[in-house]
Amino acid sequence: MNTDKTRVVVVPCSGIGKPFGTVSREAAYDLCDELRPESTRLVALAKLVLGDPEARELLARYPAVTIDGCKQMCASKMVTQSGGTVAQEVSVLDVFRRHKDLKPEGIAELNEAGMKLARVLAGEVAERLDSGEQPGKGANHV
Ligand code: SF4
Repeated sequence: MNTDKTRVVVVPCSGIGKPFGTVSREAAYDLCDELRPESTRLVALAKLVLGDPEARELLARYPAVTIDGCKQMCASKMVTQSGGTVAQEVSVLDVFRRHKDLKPEGIAELNEAGMKLARVLAGEVAERLDSGEQPGKGANHV
């Protein structure tokens, strides 16, 4: 289980209707599409909720980074319930506490501060990933 360290599965919470949840998804896109596309796989929380076989297979193979928008920690809980291993549990609120000037607002569309908070969060996760193993290759969305 989780023997393959060439990638991490990134699972943001769904967070629809909450600015901090929207930050979690934007950060996951930043991380998986822009910063570390070769060492990540983005898995939507909804896929895990639905028991999608491919998503569960990825969790069985790779460690997971979860990004949650509030204390409910939906992504982290769902990864664990799905048999995955949470290697990094990231809370948007924790990152915001260190960057109080970046208050996210807006739901359908985040304000500039919220987008910047997402980029900061993604950058922090990317830096931590850099201390890990070599990245693999291939499409990175499920
Ligand atoms: S962690 Fe919070 S913001 Fe994210 S989906 Fe769950 S309840 Fe919503």
